[in-house]
Amino acid sequence: MPIPARITELTPQITHWRRALHRVPELGYELPQTTAFVADKLRAMGCDSVTTAVGRAGIVAEIIGKGKANHAIALRADMDALPITEATGAPYASEMLGKMHACGHDGHTAMLLGAAQYLCETRQFSGRAVLVFQPAEEGGAGGLAMVQDGLIPRFGISEIYALHNMPNQAAGTFAINSGAMMASADFFDITITGRGGHAAMPQDAIDAVLIAAYLITALQSITSRNIDPLDAAVLSVCMIDTDSRAPNVLPQEVRLSGTARALSAPVRDALEVRLRAVCDGVAATFGAQILVDYQRGYPVTVNSPDQAGFAGEAAQVVTGQPTANAAPMMGAEDFSYMLNASAQNGFGGAYMFLGNGHSAMLHHPAYDFNDAIIPAGVAWFAALIERRMPL
Ligand SMILES: [Zn+2]
Ligand SMILES: [Zn+2]
Repeated sequence: MPIPARITELTPQITHWRRALHRVPELGYELPQTTAFVADKLRAMGCDSVTTAVGRAGIVAEIIGKGKANHAIALRADMDALPITEATGAPYASEMLGKMHACGHDGHTAMLLGAAQYLCETRQFSGRAVLVFQPAEEGGAGGLAMVQDGLIPRFGISEIYALHNMPNQAAGTFAINSGAMMASADFFDITITGRGGHAAMPQDAIDAVLIAAYLITALQSITSRNIDPLDAAVLSVCMIDTDSRAPNVLPQEVRLSGTARALSAPVRDALEVRLRAVCDGVAATFGAQILVDYQRGYPVTVNSPDQAGFAGEAAQVVTGQPTANAAPMMGAEDFSYMLNASAQNGFGGAYMFLGNGHSAMLHHPAYDFNDAIIPAGVAWFAALIERRMPL
């Protein structure tokens, strides 16, 4: 059974939902139109419960199978868009100026709604399917908000699964691995305070610009010299600003901001420790003051080996092809909080890539979700429920 016939029949409807969501992209936790759309559909299709405002703007629906097993598997989609002005020219393009579904969360939400419709009609499983629609994946930690609102214990969730579409992976193909899929994402602000002065009399100043230049170079030695070459790590300085507004004035202060990424907790910790040490060392070298504000963001997205195996098997059932091994990516994903919460309960979960075919990359103004992959994604959600909780 590659794609169930009923899912093929539902695909035009799901595509219509996807494009309706695409027209009204909303950001973060402010998703009034999106959440109303999702909750209305879930109620209309006959879910056994629909709970709104979980983690502020999240929605959780339950569907009870024909069998009475006391087991619950969760499937998660993200609902939020990005502050990007759309450039696809699609007839269903964003109607909200400066906002766009440029990460395909409209597709994820529509596919999970499609799976809900199919599971409500068929109920060929024993236990509960829990459908999780989260807000604020794009930097707002909506996944954490739902976990902190008791998502896992409130709905008795054991395993939890999610997918993300992936541009330039063959359309409708699946890829996964049994460990880290996405990186941790931490952010830092560094303030270098020197002594401002006349650009022609540097001997009377402490030049924060020169110090910044040394510091940026020295920070790159962390990933190249302190981290095992076989471990992945990224440290990027992305913003530089000074308080000088003239080419003949040395600034008092230079501010640097950037991000640090890793695929394991020890490497993540090492990046912070070394960044602080390098800043202290450079400050001492030049007689400046360097303050570091280091903010921990999303943790590493780590699949549980057993659940990654189940997810890969479900994908193989859908495509008839062996599921590819996914290389991890250095982007971050707040599904990591849900995976960690499930793992702490002794279960775990998995996060899958679904190929979007040849397209612009995620977060690009010309990106669009590929509607042709809808049946594969819906069938994968359904296969997980039916295979992990068989009648
Ligand atoms: Zn994104
Ligand atoms: Zn995304």
